[in-house]
Amino acid sequence: MNAPDRTDVFFPFDNSYARLPDRFYARLEPEPVSAPRLIRVNEELAHLLKLDPEQLRSPEGVEILAGNRVPEGSDPLAMAYAGHQFGNWVPQLGDGRAILLGEVVGRDGIRRDIQLKGSGRTPFSRMGDGRAVLGPILREYIVAEGMAALDVPTTRALAAVLTGEKVARETFLPGAVLTRVAQSHVRVGTFQFFAARQDDEALRLLADHVIERHYPDAAHEENPYLALLANVLARQAGLIARWQLIGFIHGVMNTDNMSIAGETIDYGPCAFMDTYHPNTVYSSIDQMGRYAYGNQPGIAHWNLAVLAQSLLPLFDADADKGVEKAQEVINTYPELYDKTYLAGLRAKLGLTEPSEGDKELANDLLKRMAENDADFTLTFRHLCDAATPEPTDADGKVRDQFKNGDAFDGWAKDWRKRLSKEPLDTEARKAAMRAVNPAFIPRNHLVAEAIRSAEEREDFTPFEELMAVLARPFEDQPGRERYTLPPRPDQIVHRTFCGT
Ligand code: AMP
Ligand code: MG
Repeated sequence: MNAPDRTDVFFPFDNSYARLPDRFYARLEPEPVSAPRLIRVNEELAHLLKLDPEQLRSPEGVEILAGNRVPEGSDPLAMAYAGHQFGNWVPQLGDGRAILLGEVVGRDGIRRDIQLKGSGRTPFSRMGDGRAVLGPILREYIVAEGMAALDVPTTRALAAVLTGEKVARETFLPGAVLTRVAQSHVRVGTFQFFAARQDDEALRLLADHVIERHYPDAAHEENPYLALLANVLARQAGLIARWQLIGFIHGVMNTDNMSIAGETIDYGPCAFMDTYHPNTVYSSIDQMGRYAYGNQPGIAHWNLAVLAQSLLPLFDADADKGVEKAQEVINTYPELYDKTYLAGLRAKLGLTEPSEGDKELANDLLKRMAENDADFTLTFRHLCDAATPEPTDADGKVRDQFKNGDAFDGWAKDWRKRLSKEPLDTEARKAAMRAVNPAFIPRNHLVAEAIRSAEEREDFTPFEELMAVLARPFEDQPGRERYTLPPRPDQIVHRTFCGT
């Protein structure tokens, strides 16, 4: 027999999770679909992963992306996990509609999972059909790639295909499969799964796997598992700060939707805020506002405490000492979060050197924005041009974001006083501000427009155009001003729905 032709190898898989014991997952193949059709392959990401986009677009490639053909080297499985959903304990969740095909190591040396989402039923499907519909798949594709372009750690979208099948929801909707790429799919809920079963052996194996894969330096610490907790905490603090700084609302921050690798994961009823207000909620299932924009930092803290709880048996043979050590780490979160968040706010305001009163200055602006229905993204974007020693015409565009423009003028006086103490010259400052205050975000009404056109007319042009715009969020893109604008009243999306 000849060695397999290199061109037959779609993915250079090396599957570390599949080498963990059987109780970590259910081994099974994706369920085939009737008529797969490619929507999009992410060329830039394929390149990073050492994959050939042309090959992925070929008929065999599309069969793989639809789950109709299992590629060479894949060890398909559905991962087991548990979690707290809206604070309520659910002992078994798991990949109910996703299959991990395997792992590849990219050009950057980073190992990543290749997963199909919407690939059929698994032992973890409970009452679900294992399928996903086109709308949420496009939403995840757009928002995940938009987040990546905004420099926010996130799972990525490698490809999307139509299945050619209808999926029963409130009506029948076109089915689709997303190929999701993540540094890993281990969640807080994965640790909870084993902790709840008092399976300390599995807990340790999982922790060792995660340390080796994501936090290799922790292995050399005096207490590697405590170092693991501290590392996850630091990444999550950084991640949530990034969310807050760009106005992203995840919508379902359940512990099963919190990645151990610190990436934004499980895009469901997520949304970017248009008008700034800390109480903003879009998710139709979040009636109590548990996962409102302003609650996200606190919820992450709560989720991390749950992670600490799950890891307790690994911290110290003496349970009380273990609790004490874990508590110490968990208590560092608020300060760590505040530090990262404040540093980001300073950058948004054009401040390079920390100075007393910066936090108050930033909070004063946010308060005025909330009182005046200011658009979050545009206020900060227009602030870039207004960052001059004296007021200019550019102030007008910021003022316009406020119901009462005087609210901005009042604040701008203090801001300029503070700017006068800054070392950067005006042009350098404006450029630095433009690099952190995006002009283009995946606004809900634009996402909705792209989805509607795909659903109703199978026209993916608006989707493709939006992807092109969102790839360069910090650049002014002449001719594409429409994409910077908040929704007109008739375009406002009030509610977003989960992917099920
Ligand atoms: P999510 O809200 O997407 O984070 O999913 C929560 C849980 O429900 C996870 O265990 C999912 O795998 C499962 N799930 C969501 N949608 C479906 C579906 N259509 N079929 C089977 N399981 C699903
Ligand atoms: Mg989930």
